[in-house]
Amino acid sequence: MSEPAATQTIVIVGAGQAGGETASELRKQGFTGRIVLVGDETHVPYRRPPLSKAYLSGTATEESLYILPPAGMEKARIEFIGGVRAERIDRAARQLHLSDGRVLDYDKLVLATGGRARVLSLPGADRPNVFPLRSIADVQALRAHCLQGKSAVIVGGGFIGLEVAAVATKLGMKVTVLEGLPRVLARVTVPEVSAFFERIHREAGVDLRTGVQIAAFEGEPAVTHVLLGDGSRIAADFILAGIGQLPNVELAQQAGLAVDNGIVVDEYSRTADPDIYAAGDCANHPNEFYGCRLRLESVQNAMEQGRVVASALLGKPQVYNVVPWFWSDQYDLKLQMVGLSAGFDRMVVRGDFNSRAFAAFYLKEGRLIAADTVGRPQDFMFAKKLVAMRAVVDPQLLADEAVSLKTLLPAA
Ligand SMILES: Cc1cc2nc3c(=O)[nH]c(=O)nc-3n(C[C@H](O)[C@H](O)[C@H](O)COP(=O)(O)OP(=O)(O)OC[C@H]3O[C@@H](n4cnc5c(N)ncnc54)[C@H](O)[C@@H]3O)c2cc1C
Repeated sequence: MSEPAATQTIVIVGAGQAGGETASELRKQGFTGRIVLVGDETHVPYRRPPLSKAYLSGTATEESLYILPPAGMEKARIEFIGGVRAERIDRAARQLHLSDGRVLDYDKLVLATGGRARVLSLPGADRPNVFPLRSIADVQALRAHCLQGKSAVIVGGGFIGLEVAAVATKLGMKVTVLEGLPRVLARVTVPEVSAFFERIHREAGVDLRTGVQIAAFEGEPAVTHVLLGDGSRIAADFILAGIGQLPNVELAQQAGLAVDNGIVVDEYSRTADPDIYAAGDCANHPNEFYGCRLRLESVQNAMEQGRVVASALLGKPQVYNVVPWFWSDQYDLKLQMVGLSAGFDRMVVRGDFNSRAFAAFYLKEGRLIAADTVGRPQDFMFAKKLVAMRAVVDPQLLADEAVSLKTLLPAA
């Protein structure tokens, strides 16, 4: 792959975390050609994590979310086309058709289309006070309802649902969380960590119910009650749907690119079309570390994959091979997770699930494959290194609070 000439145009679809990172990284790595960033939101690229945390609570401004403020984009000569959707790719002509009728020629195209919030398919879910949470616009709509004394019903006990529950509780609202599965965070962690967060939320005053089926949302024109499968009703001033997201793959699909739980890319983030790449929440990549394909939904993934795309576009391909990590803020607690714990055969705990700080380590055949920590940033930092090394560790030392994890790192 040779380095693109200064006359080349790289078009990026999706002005989010991955799109923004790809654009700025292209400049950082010396690309002098034209960069066009197309986004269907009117905002410049911004960070989404604060949406369910500081931005919802009103302690962060909109500007503080920006990854690429307008002045920065201008300086980096990144052309931003906001509030416009990319509707069709003509691969033969290497052209991108936009919703405002414009047609952009490209030499290379990057799909960084992210995902969209899953919508509830229940009677009454189309009422105006049932909200998703994916964008600045969603938070602006939701915020007007987040008032002291109001009742919020949150559907879904995943990260977004629990983070919103924490913010709403702190704002003095009456909060109910309804989770269909037997425990919260069931898809991402072990029962002990789920139980920890269930306790924390209940202690804060949240009415947290698991294994609950919702029959309908009642009220006209807005929802006033949630009808549960057992016939009981919960009063609600609004509903937040935190039930996951779907990758935005339609543009790729329509262009005849392979899609399988995300846009299929190789280890360099290339699709089967040598001129089209994909990165971030929308991309499904082969992960050498885990020996399987993964589609990740995290800032770390969006940023690192954006950099991998930029390197590949500039003729310096690097294999994308990361150990995933993630965080969540709820109340004064920070959960930090590294690795994928699926398939572990032993869990070792440092600290106590009954306190407000612990680390759970997951081992497979004696090697550390993942860790979840709460309130233990130091342990997390070293756990990241140990997991990346697939270190063989002594479980007794892992559990011993007196032993610094640093001392467990194998000698270089
Ligand atoms: C509320 C919330 C909280 C989160 N908290 C955390 C956290 O604490 N930690 C963490 O690691 N991750 C968190 N995440 C996940 C993280 O924000 C995402 O993984 C990351 O934003 C993915 O970046 P992306 O660029 O792939 O997608 P996005 O940031 O979603 O950007 C994609 C952009 O492309 C646009 N787009 C899609 N299709 C088109 C089209 N056809 N034409 C033009 N534009 C298009 C979309 O509208 C969007 O603006 C959170 C996400 C949300 C929503």
